[in-house]
Amino acid sequence: MWQIVVRVETDTGQTGWGFGGGGKAAVEIVNGHFSEILVGRPLNSLSDISEIWDYLYTESIPYGRKGIAIMALSGIDLSLYDALGKAEKKPVAKLLNPVNKQIMRCYATGVDTDWYAETGFTAQKIPHRWTGKDSIETAVSCTEAARSALGSEAEVMLDVYMSWDADVTIQMNTALQHVGIHWFEDVLTPDDLTELGKLREQIHPVNMAGGEHEFTDRGFAEISKNQSYDIWQPDITWCGGITAGLRIVEMAIQDKTAVVPHRGGEPWGLHLIAASQCEDFAELVMGTRSLKKDNLWIGSPEPENGYIQITDTPGFGVEPDTNLL
Ligand SMILES: [Mg+2]
Repeated sequence: MWQIVVRVETDTGQTGWGFGGGGKAAVEIVNGHFSEILVGRPLNSLSDISEIWDYLYTESIPYGRKGIAIMALSGIDLSLYDALGKAEKKPVAKLLNPVNKQIMRCYATGVDTDWYAETGFTAQKIPHRWTGKDSIETAVSCTEAARSALGSEAEVMLDVYMSWDADVTIQMNTALQHVGIHWFEDVLTPDDLTELGKLREQIHPVNMAGGEHEFTDRGFAEISKNQSYDIWQPDITWCGGITAGLRIVEMAIQDKTAVVPHRGGEPWGLHLIAASQCEDFAELVMGTRSLKKDNLWIGSPEPENGYIQITDTPGFGVEPDTNLL
């Protein structure tokens, strides 16, 4: 996913680690531009981080505002939160909100329904792309299987990664009605906000979800204007970090819209969920039982019985495995 790891060092001896997106181009932005203008700025409070965010955002407007520059800025923002948390000896969630949630419900993303059921998940999101007429049948069979394995109370979602159009959405909505789908995700592209808003009303009570490819509160303001989604899904390592995430949640509250961060079960989204009015619903991209995954972030909390708990370790509570960098 072209993720990048950002390290920031302070003159008081803290090392903050952040996770961003945008691959090598984002690394170039961090090292070639942001690091240069970041040196010497104070990092004593949450408002210092917010000011730094605004400063870097403004300085990068000519080539930024969305996409790779904001993915780079996300990595910086998260590294600053990590450093401040370590300096204050508090987990980020507690820095943001002393009465944060500790335990959150998870949903598993992937296709290994039986494994998720065995390990105690009560919610699954199935990646499924349109590849022609057969797709209706396969969507019905995989969601029916999830419903029967996870139970009548479980949440079953479908992520179609921008592969449907309006007609397909209506057809799928009818074909899957008996399953009881919680949301359809990324039905159209993020450029189709007006059409999504119209379609959203036609698929209720199924929710329209999206937003992992949108950036900052300015981007989400367009989503809000078009009433495109019932559920907003900012990715905290892409959309502008915790700073942007907090502003987006604030907007969603005004809008009476739910926020379920993309990959919210990873430490960055998880601390935002714990500290804010995001839904108590954290995504874990689980893959399959047999898939061997690299464990880049040492200390990441693991799900237990379908729930995940943040730790009291300062900052985000994780350090990268330097053998993998
Ligand atoms: Mg998705």
